Amino acid sequence: MASCGNSNTDHSLGVPTPNDAFNLMKSNFFDELWKLYPAWASSQGYHYNDSLFAIADADFRQREAEFVKNWQHKLWQFKPEELSPADRTDWLMLDNQLKATLFYANEYKGYEWDPSSYNVGSTFGEMINGTYAPLNERMKYILQRLAFVPAYYENARKQIKNPTLEHTDLAISQNRGSAGLFGKDLQDSVAKTNLSSADKKLFNERIAAAAAAINGYADWLEKEVKPGLTKDGVKSFRLGKDLFEKKFDFEIQSHYTAAEIYDIAIKHKKELHGEMYKLTTQLWPKYLAKETMPKDTLSAIRKMIDKLSDKHSKREDFQKDIEAQIPALAKFVKDKNLLYLDPSKPLEVRKEPDYMAGVAGASISAPGPYDKDGKTFYNVGSLAAYTPERAESYLREYNHYILQILNIHEAIPGHYAQLVYSNQSPSLVKSILGNGAMVEGWAVYTERMMIESGYGANEPEMWLMYYKWNLRATCNTILDVGIHCNNLSEADALDLMTRQAFQQEAEAKGKWRRATLTQVQLCSYFTGYTEIYEFRNILKQKQGDKFDLKAFHEKFLSYGSAPVKYVRELMEKEME
Ligand code: ZN
Ligand code: ZN
Repeated sequence: MASCGNSNTDHSLGVPTPNDAFNLMKSNFFDELWKLYPAWASSQGYHYNDSLFAIADADFRQREAEFVKNWQHKLWQFKPEELSPADRTDWLMLDNQLKATLFYANEYKGYEWDPSSYNVGSTFGEMINGTYAPLNERMKYILQRLAFVPAYYENARKQIKNPTLEHTDLAISQNRGSAGLFGKDLQDSVAKTNLSSADKKLFNERIAAAAAAINGYADWLEKEVKPGLTKDGVKSFRLGKDLFEKKFDFEIQSHYTAAEIYDIAIKHKKELHGEMYKLTTQLWPKYLAKETMPKDTLSAIRKMIDKLSDKHSKREDFQKDIEAQIPALAKFVKDKNLLYLDPSKPLEVRKEPDYMAGVAGASISAPGPYDKDGKTFYNVGSLAAYTPERAESYLREYNHYILQILNIHEAIPGHYAQLVYSNQSPSLVKSILGNGAMVEGWAVYTERMMIESGYGANEPEMWLMYYKWNLRATCNTILDVGIHCNNLSEADALDLMTRQAFQQEAEAKGKWRRATLTQVQLCSYFTGYTEIYEFRNILKQKQGDKFDLKAFHEKFLSYGSAPVKYVRELMEKEME
């Protein structure tokens, strides 16, 4: 049996250890999970159930509840303290996942109030555009999966009981977008396959039926559901404190509650403003000597940020400038002894592929857990399609300073470096159920760690821009908790983002919309960052002269994408 590198299996005894049995259980768990959720399976690169598609009706939820009961029974036969550290965190994450499944089914109930939770676009989009198998192979499964689409949308109409206006609008526009997949392009692809002519005919019938079902659903929402959503008593997009707190606990798995992290964010915002004002005062004579500094501290800071934003890449050099920073970051990490970076796994920078076009900036594309030969890429966007005004505004936002912080976050030593480490302790649990707050928290943590270690030569300009960037993550939390738990109004939210966090109006409006349609995810950045930074400082105090930053980072990352609180517990235990 293949087991993790950290497993303490002792084969010399010939007796299966708890870790052996646990590993077998984990692999059975995923086989069963993928039968229950075949579309989720496909999205993770597991294609054995591609002919199936789940219809989330009462019967499905019954099976889901039985699945949870069955696997809780199996999981709870293991004692986490008897497992290796890697398996122990897997145990805790599986336990959380099973409990969360019941929470979403019985309390959160998005299937009743979020019409956008019904959308076949991504699953078919991935199958149609996928490169995991030849076209003929993929088409066979698309044909089979298509048969479920009419029943899927029929069930959606039955499940929706008290939708919010915002999620209804989202569902209409997203499903109309998905309908575009079932048109002439797909028919042309069908013609190119080696399917029999009877199957081709069936295929075209199913494409037409799928398109009719999606458009029918969008029409129904638009004409019959939406008109009823303007009167009083309609469900609000605000999740409410009780459900938000629970969702926060399941998703973030922090030792803080949502209310606690909100208070920390409010306090942190105040501290950031204080530091930013100090730097603004210091920089004023250098940049704005001829102007009087505004009395209002936030106005003064904004003026300085605007001034510093003049320093940015030329539009045509944007990609080249990003590419040039990657080796510089790697060299800094090495020279300062911050983290070992495996030289055999260099980051491949590429121009972002066409299907991602439109999202300028940079992002990481990593292969799924079942894609062993897949490569990791750093996608760098092009500004070619932007109008001159939009490009200028974008380049000012991702100016000389912020662009470097973005590269720290996305690439080195942020997401990319974390990914390389997490791939060294392979765990399906952590790659599929990986903790977003740990992953984002690490990337946000490295921004500060790099600047503190002297990246940017301790220039006050770099620090000021770093604080502005950090203020964004901080305000994401204030916004998220504020909107869903504290009834934060749109006007106050926009004031928070533009006046207090120095964001552009367009960015703030987009964020408001995102925050009304999602819950908890926006808290992940600040919560993870806060927990990692705090843990490091406690450790530093405890260990004094013996504290080694590089060793801390490598040990921390060795547990994979597990919640920070579990990593912390394990590290503390090992150091006792
Ligand atoms: Zn400019
Ligand atoms: Zn990130």
